[in-house]
Amino acid sequence: MDKINILAMSQDPIYIGTGGFTIGRVDNTIVRDPITRIPKIPGTSLAGTWRYYMALTLYSYFNDKYKMDRSSRSGVDCDELFIKAVKVKGKRWVTEVKGNKYAAIKCAGQDEEPNSTLERSETSESGHCGHCIVCKVFGYSKNGNSERGMAYFSDLNILLFPVYTRFGTMWITSTDILRSAGVDKDIVKEIEPQEDKVTIFDENIKNKNINIGWLNFKADKEDIDICSEICKNIKNDGDSNVQAPGLQDFITNEKIIIVPDSIISQIINSNLETRTSVSIDPITGAAKDKALFTSEAIPRGTVFYGNFRIEERPLSDEPKQEYVEKALSESKKFFETLGIGGMTTRGFGRMKIFDWRGKDGSED
Ligand SMILES: [Zn+2]
Repeated sequence: MDKINILAMSQDPIYIGTGGFTIGRVDNTIVRDPITRIPKIPGTSLAGTWRYYMALTLYSYFNDKYKMDRSSRSGVDCDELFIKAVKVKGKRWVTEVKGNKYAAIKCAGQDEEPNSTLERSETSESGHCGHCIVCKVFGYSKNGNSERGMAYFSDLNILLFPVYTRFGTMWITSTDILRSAGVDKDIVKEIEPQEDKVTIFDENIKNKNINIGWLNFKADKEDIDICSEICKNIKNDGDSNVQAPGLQDFITNEKIIIVPDSIISQIINSNLETRTSVSIDPITGAAKDKALFTSEAIPRGTVFYGNFRIEERPLSDEPKQEYVEKALSESKKFFETLGIGGMTTRGFGRMKIFDWRGKDGSED
């Protein structure tokens, strides 16, 4: 199994609802870790969205005639046709995976024809094809033939959370979170905040009080480059000279605060974005009576960590791990435009997933 760590940053507030559950003053609550009560992005949302984006990316490489003419894709000798149909050269994850010739946009989303057979699905207008890289990576189920996906996605948990302080916006985290994210234990121990204090890394706030929202803390300074420590862990093996994810472009070491584990959940939950909306009566154009509701969301600028693992399948018609990773890497750009979660047409959902092996684009 190839494990790849990823870092992501929300560019809009992110709303992933639990589906009508009311706690306290919020009507539309978001998904949380059941133990820490810290909000997160579940792996199911990540995988489901990524499946659609990979199908979009793959499909964009077919020429228009090929997209239309599904009948030409059946039969044994259409390999040649497929190579011609693909508009780009050098995209090995597109051309080398033989099953891609059956791919269509229907491979994204839910299977509409789970009861049809694998043979029929090759030329059918609906339902998963069961052969292409999208179906192999995310799985499919057909009558008498199904396969688990090759990629396993973890939840995206909060690593750094933006808060307002009198020194400007800063990002909080805790020792438990850093440890779970894989930062070196000894380093985490060194920066553990003493009772009722927080750890900071900025010379200018040394020995001063710092407010996090409405809470006031004494700050202890440590001389550790925690930002690099985080990136060092997220950076995956392979090329050793590749730059770590671009986190430092957004957050510097001076902007990070370590708060006690006992209080981080409260701070995050009291600094979520909440919006109060009201339904509009289409006849009068005014607010509808009793239609006021509130929603909460993870704010813009939150940094998440997580991973995905790719299972190796030695069979010849299975896509190589390398192609799976390329396909995921190339399709992740859609998270920056189409987003994840709910209300993406209302200013929510965009998220940047940082490159996990340096810069994208250069293949082979
Ligand atoms: Zn497919």
